[in-house]
Amino acid sequence: MFIRVITQVEGFFKGMVFDCRMCGQCVLSQTGLICPMTCPKGLRNGPCGGTLHGECEVLPDKPCVWVRIHRRTVGEKSLELPDLLPSCDARLQDTSSYINLFTGADKIGRTPLKYLDLGTQRTKLPLQTQSRLEQRLKSGAFVRTCEMRAPRSATFKQVDEQVSYVRDRFDAVNATSYLSAKPSLSSAVVAARLAEMGIEAICQSTCRDHTKTSFIAELLSNQLNGVHNSLCMTGDSYKQIPRPKQVFDMDGAIMLYEARYLREKGMVYFTGERIANAPRPFIGAVINPFTEPANIPIRRLKQKAAAGADFIQTQLIFDMQAFASGFMTTVRQENIHEDLFILAGVPVVTSKKALEVLQHIPGVSVPPESLQRLSQAADCQSEGIRLARELVLQAADIPGVAGVHLMLFGPDHSVLPDVIEVLDSTPQQSRTANFRAAGGTETPVT
Ligand code: SF4
Repeated sequence: MFIRVITQVEGFFKGMVFDCRMCGQCVLSQTGLICPMTCPKGLRNGPCGGTLHGECEVLPDKPCVWVRIHRRTVGEKSLELPDLLPSCDARLQDTSSYINLFTGADKIGRTPLKYLDLGTQRTKLPLQTQSRLEQRLKSGAFVRTCEMRAPRSATFKQVDEQVSYVRDRFDAVNATSYLSAKPSLSSAVVAARLAEMGIEAICQSTCRDHTKTSFIAELLSNQLNGVHNSLCMTGDSYKQIPRPKQVFDMDGAIMLYEARYLREKGMVYFTGERIANAPRPFIGAVINPFTEPANIPIRRLKQKAAAGADFIQTQLIFDMQAFASGFMTTVRQENIHEDLFILAGVPVVTSKKALEVLQHIPGVSVPPESLQRLSQAADCQSEGIRLARELVLQAADIPGVAGVHLMLFGPDHSVLPDVIEVLDSTPQQSRTANFRAAGGTETPVT
């Protein structure tokens, strides 16, 4: 009875003042008195890549909860590594955080995790996994990756038809995970198919669709199927009405931590269980370099590196100059590129319809010049290829960028060779001249 009264009183007052969701493991003291559970994805460690101009991806008329927390707790200048808060202990939902604080029941749920000791200058360490992508990156090659869309049917026909366009041209291929949150073959199944065909596969996994249990299970399947790269993503929000339940048992940083803990210790962190022949994936994450204020993506990048990421694929970049002079300059000043490899996300737009779709993807900003250039082109596909080739060349000249990740907007992979082969047909010297002529000021890596 007493516990029920306290819980109701807490729910009422904290609900009024903080919009409390009664997670039972209160972290308000660490989040500037802004409740992180009011983030529609319930993220405990910073914004997802969908926030743009400080707005929430899910509720665009509302400010992003995590941008507000950042502004209030560290402001716009700090580049400090953030703490890593654990995900919520689901047992405590709808219980009193005051009572849990008193009894100590909430200790695990609100005490920051200890980052693993992963060393420094990790990009120079000897090979840690069986990943061929890791081998390529550590060899100093400028790598090329792209995506294979998981078919929305129970057949590999579409994958098999497209594979000849990526084979021998790309160092690794992402198997996408339920694009736009629509059902498809799973990324693990498609990645396994790619691996079977000799393609180095990257299996995408999202926090939107996975519990910790199903995520670790996916890593086990990947190991079994010869898929040695895992890309950990938050996942964009469901658009369907009515909206199905989204999982978010963990956020992107916790997902990375689970994967890395498994690799380093041979144990599942959240169960403490030892795993025989534990997966040792080469671990990727994503980042939106254009999240504002500009210190947020840098702090997120540091957090993802510390949580275990080996490589990053960025959100789509249309303005490579801004990426070079802003995000990448700070990355180098902070030496983050020495701890993980950064692949610049390059859009390949093949139609006006795709351009329209692209403008509604959370976190993607298409500058008016690019929009005008593509929308007014007589042949949108040719112009999209030209633009992608320019972006690839510009990315290749940014110090600290280890490769490009092509994201195709359209079903036909036959355009990808035309884009990526620009790296082979343009000598380094003329690439640099092009970049400078376009206003670039970076010293190229030779
Ligand atoms: S962190 Fe949990 S207990 Fe604290 S205000 Fe938010 S939902 Fe309520």
